[in-house]
Amino acid sequence: MYKAKAYAASSATSPFASTTIQRRDPAEHDVQIEILFCGICRSDVHQARNEWANVMPTVYPCVLGHEIVGRVTRVGSAVTKFKPGDLAAVGCLVDSDGTCPECKAGFEQFCPNWVGTYNFPDKHLGGVTFGGYSDSIVVTERFVLRVPSNLNLAAAAPLLCAGITTYSPMRHWGVGKGKKVGVVGLGGLGHMGVKFAHALGAHVVVFTSSPGKKGDALCLGADEVVISKDANEMNKHAGSFDFILDAVAASHDINAYINMLGRDGNLTMVGAPPEPLPVGVFGLLIRRRSFSGSLIGGIAETQEMLDFCGKHNITADVEVIPIQKLNEAYDRLVKSDVKYRFSIDMASLKSE
Ligand code: NAP
Ligand code: ZN
Repeated sequence: MYKAKAYAASSATSPFASTTIQRRDPAEHDVQIEILFCGICRSDVHQARNEWANVMPTVYPCVLGHEIVGRVTRVGSAVTKFKPGDLAAVGCLVDSDGTCPECKAGFEQFCPNWVGTYNFPDKHLGGVTFGGYSDSIVVTERFVLRVPSNLNLAAAAPLLCAGITTYSPMRHWGVGKGKKVGVVGLGGLGHMGVKFAHALGAHVVVFTSSPGKKGDALCLGADEVVISKDANEMNKHAGSFDFILDAVAASHDINAYINMLGRDGNLTMVGAPPEPLPVGVFGLLIRRRSFSGSLIGGIAETQEMLDFCGKHNITADVEVIPIQKLNEAYDRLVKSDVKYRFSIDMASLKSE
């Protein structure tokens, strides 16, 4: 075991503060990574504030962060894919049983024994797993990803959650040329959804509640932008979409978007508002529409997404902050005041 520097919150209402945590020494299949950048996901905020208490209650103190890029510092004797000095990345998953049908099919995120990067039982050290708001992490090789060398590292970090969470359902539902695709909520996930849908060749329409984001949406790759409060603009698109990705973090009228789908159209929810959303069944009966959800993505697909980003030069639009601004960043994120993802420069932790 060794001590690592980290930022932790000690309750749902406490700010994050500097601390030290225990990390395991790398065992034979482990990779130790010096964390260079870590993105701030809205899920971190839900978790820090225990907003998902009914589904996954937070264990305190919590060290969050699951959009991790860094450099390998040590590897165990059985590690074959990484050596010290290599770039490496870790997303929302750090382990799974590797033997169940989900793991065998590449869906480690649906394994009944999956281990999340934070707030999951830590089978090595007891307590819970600690995430990327830290100077290092130790992860079994199977869950460590390769980062294409042409990508800016601060801007690549958010690919590990915002990237895969939007890429995976778009691939699953066949987003591509000739498809009309909506993206609801232009935040960290939403802006990646726009970039992927555009790169895959779809006609992309952004739905935003923030009129000030219209210009950005077009620059990011949207073909059209709809201000969701404008009923006239909304009505123009009724019944016309093949696929809509909803990345909104709060309660909203989901039926307004279901009614935008054409025949066999699908609306996939990736946003995770804590409260249930009422769904009008008739909206689904008409035109055989479907409403579904999607959770991050498996390891092989995450690597596929990173390689796709390397090929198409896709990264997140980030505001890089020192870790000392973490609490301020949380407050700004809740107010949608970030374009479009915070990425923490972990070198700032050295001075703590
Ligand atoms: P974010 O950066 O805060 O973006 C959310 C966007 O939703 C905002 O930018 C805003 O877009 C819209 N929004 C926020 N509050 C709203 C409100 N009250 N009414 C209407 N629209 C609102 O968050 P994020 O990091 O992208 O995460 C989005 C959600 O996805 C969170 O709930 C997060 O926990 C969840 N998530 C799920 C997965 C998964 O695997 N399914 C993975 C990661 C995150 P506009 O200003 O454009 O309206
Ligand atoms: Zn996330």
